[in-house]
Amino acid sequence: MKIITISYRLPLSIKKQNRKTTITQSAGGLATAILSYSEKSNANLTWVGVADFEKNTWENHKDSFSKNFEIEPVFLDKKLNKNFYNVFSNSVLWALFHYFPSYMEYNDEAFEAYKTANEIVAQKVNEIYEPGDIVWIHDYHFLGLANLVRQQHPDAKIGFFLHIPFPNFEIFRIMPNKVKRYLLEGMLGANLVGFHTWDNAIHFTECVEKILGLNQRGFVFSQDSHRTKVGSFPISIDFDKFHDAYDKPNVIALREEIGELYHDKKIIFSVDRLDYSKGINNRLYAFESFLEKYPEWKEKVVFVIVIVPSREEIGKYGERKRMIENNISRINGALGNYKWTPVVYQYQSVDFDKLIALYSSAHVALISPVRDGMNLVAKEYVAARKDLCGVLLLSVLAGAAKELQEAITINPFDTELIADKINLALNMPEEEQQRRMERMQGYLKTHDVFRWASNFLSETEEMHSHDNKAQ
Ligand code: UDP
Repeated sequence: MKIITISYRLPLSIKKQNRKTTITQSAGGLATAILSYSEKSNANLTWVGVADFEKNTWENHKDSFSKNFEIEPVFLDKKLNKNFYNVFSNSVLWALFHYFPSYMEYNDEAFEAYKTANEIVAQKVNEIYEPGDIVWIHDYHFLGLANLVRQQHPDAKIGFFLHIPFPNFEIFRIMPNKVKRYLLEGMLGANLVGFHTWDNAIHFTECVEKILGLNQRGFVFSQDSHRTKVGSFPISIDFDKFHDAYDKPNVIALREEIGELYHDKKIIFSVDRLDYSKGINNRLYAFESFLEKYPEWKEKVVFVIVIVPSREEIGKYGERKRMIENNISRINGALGNYKWTPVVYQYQSVDFDKLIALYSSAHVALISPVRDGMNLVAKEYVAARKDLCGVLLLSVLAGAAKELQEAITINPFDTELIADKINLALNMPEEEQQRRMERMQGYLKTHDVFRWASNFLSETEEMHSHDNKAQ
């Protein structure tokens, strides 16, 4: 038996240095968790994804990849991939599923490319599939895939997990009928369809009922070949990795450096990919109103904002970057002075140790997405606080807010309220910070990414075996 995992990105990185090419496993939480499950259950793991490297490079160097698991890259034609990934996945589905219908750039050619890409990937899965395997499909790039695999292997165990929100019916219905049907029928090919929250699961079941006319009983849809269960499986992080990193010598040194640099200031911190769903401009407006409303904090606080470059080739992202940079520059110009820069900004990624040093130095993590499936940064911030200090301000529109009950919740559009909450957080007594951190860490320690993967896969198996017994 093997687990076949499908995601758009493959969990590997290819580096060329001094004419030597090496392929290494990238350390993402998803890969680590699935690998751990496959080891525990004595299953092999094969990962299917879209190659962002040349076929030649792969053929010449694949043997240098460590054999923890098998990799099956799919090579897509450039134009097809652009329409599939940049246009349909990221400018239609991403926009709509994050409640930005006006950002949707639908066209039929992109939808056709999406279907073709799903078929090409299905072909790859069909080539390697053997009876007894579990197929685990990830995310919005492959909403059609479960059904395509099901058509070839009616008996397959298939799980599908959506890493982004699933919108309500009024938003979902905006898409052309043929698209809506294709996506929903595609997802229903799985034995188990998982979301981060029950709200998303309910939105999905409503869409299936209203658009496909199927009825659910206890979140299960019965079809001719199989039944599909719908459920909530909030993803998480490798808690120990983030918690233990607090004591790494390099992290300690970096934390000391940050401490010296800002010895007389409190740090508000945020880190996100550049994305309109992250609410970065609202956050800047909120910080600005905080300084105006609570001027006693001037020169005593600094907002360190890290933005990780993302999808720059898509127009809406470039536009967002310019708006953010204009706002930062305006705030620093209007409120700062020669001794003090209120917003310290970096448009570059940070490595793991620096990230932990920043998390564990920040008095406040200000996380304000206007829509987010989960938001792992929120969980990582909590996990990294081995000292139990710090306050998490978290948008109610992030999936993580459902679980992190001791966070101070904010409405990302209510800048006045956020200003007050920042003030509250900066003044919060240490005992209260500790009490909140302790409770959230207690939760995350037991609800980590290993448990998430294991729950999801065992429920996929269970659902499948129920059906087989019933026949
Ligand atoms: N992260 C990263 N590079 C960085 C800083 C952060 O890859 O320079 C990671 C961060 O640790 C987190 C992820 O990016 O695991 C962001 O996940 P999240 O769910 O918050 O948002 P997403 O980007 O998936 O929408």
